[in-house]
Amino acid sequence: MSNVIFLGAPGSGKGTQSALLVDKAQFNHVSTGNLLREEIAKQSELGLKVKAVMDEGKLVSDELVVELLKANLDLGSSKYIFDGYPRNIAQAKTLVSILDGVPFQAIYFKLDTEKLVDRLKNRRMTKDGKNIYNVVTNPPKVAGVCDVTGEALIQRDDDKEDVVRHRMSVFDETIGPVLDYFKELGKLLEIDADQSVEIVYDSLISKIS
Ligand code: AMP
Repeated sequence: MSNVIFLGAPGSGKGTQSALLVDKAQFNHVSTGNLLREEIAKQSELGLKVKAVMDEGKLVSDELVVELLKANLDLGSSKYIFDGYPRNIAQAKTLVSILDGVPFQAIYFKLDTEKLVDRLKNRRMTKDGKNIYNVVTNPPKVAGVCDVTGEALIQRDDDKEDVVRHRMSVFDETIGPVLDYFKELGKLLEIDADQSVEIVYDSLISKIS
């Protein structure tokens, strides 16, 4: 199995499937969104710089994100899931050059926008973003509490509907060339993300193994 690059709009299931692959298939997960949120929580210089941009659902600059990504990668020692990176064609080319011949497969999680908005409005998670629930389709056993860690679940500020809609439009504007690029490299596979967590996982495993 090689490295995998998850492409898909916010709410398409990339984070949920990443957690399963980490658990069951020995992948390492690198999510640029989670890394940026950690910087905000630490109130680091970088965190202070990016907070306002993220609160509005806009993209952080390519330079800042790539530095953070590189600082959190150890390609020789592990296979990775790239989640939330690349977001545009420049980042896609940067990632292929960072991988520098290391095998990878890009997977596009395909799902209708209105369904995505609905999913995000109902999404709750642990503070680190690692355990993700949906209050309608995948609720925790006790409302508001994580089954795994017992901590209180939160709603991300950028999962509120108006910001969600902006994030969707940013995604729609930037993803086309990224998909074309991986297609031309012969590295793009698509997954129907409008299915249960278990079915998406099985079809993912069958595609990447
Ligand atoms: P996510 O958790 O992937 O939905 O990302 C949340 C927010 O973090 C995005 O709306 C952006 O503001 C920022 N972000 C995450 N990944 C990137 C990236 N690759 N490039 C630019 N901004 C990013």
